[in-house]
This record gives sequence, structure tokens and C-alpha cells, in this order.
Amino acid sequence: MARTSSLAAEAAPRCTACGSERIVKNGKNVCGHQQFRCRACGVSRVLAPKSRETAPERKAEVLRAVATERLSLRAAQRVFGVARGTISKWLEKKPKPSRR
Ligand SMILES: [Zn+2]
Repeated sequence: MARTSSLAAEAAPRCTACGSERIVKNGKNVCGHQQFRCRACGVSRVLAPKSRETAPERKAEVLRAVATERLSLRAAQRVFGVARGTISKWLEKKPKPSRR
């Protein structure tokens, strides 16, 4: 199977700001994602940025482990690879699951 560039794979990529098709690759951002620049309006951005939010299932799994397995935040950080500050933030937002 021939490899195609991400630009060619997408059907007519358009500028997310003005809708122009005159966009060119413009290096990568600090995260390593391909950036594009619009020749028409001049904006530079990632065309389809990924959501940085954790999937709700994974979030629930981590919170369940912390609540039921009596996992410390530091242990949860090691096991799941989620920063303990993040887990702490989730715990503040979400009411604790009831214990049976
Ligand atoms: Zn544009």
C-alpha cells in the first residue's frame, strides 16, 4: 500500500478560519502535530486538533480504583499514568461513587 501524505489523504482540506483551500504545511507545533498556514487569511493552526480531555471510561476506571481499592493518588499516578493533580481535580468535581 502506497503511503500518502496527510494533506493528500484528506478530501480538500480547508482553512478552519476562512474556509479557503489555499493552505500549505507550515512546520510542527511543540507537540509535534502538523501545522498548516492559510495563504488567504494567514492563520497558522492544526487542522484537526485532538481533544485533550481523558475518555470518560478511563476517568471512571481511575476514580473507581482510587475509591474502592484505596489506591493513593501517587499509586494511581504510577499505575495509570495520570498526574495526581489531575486525579485530585476529578475527585473534587465528581461525587464519590457509593461503596457497597
Ligand atoms: Zn484562512
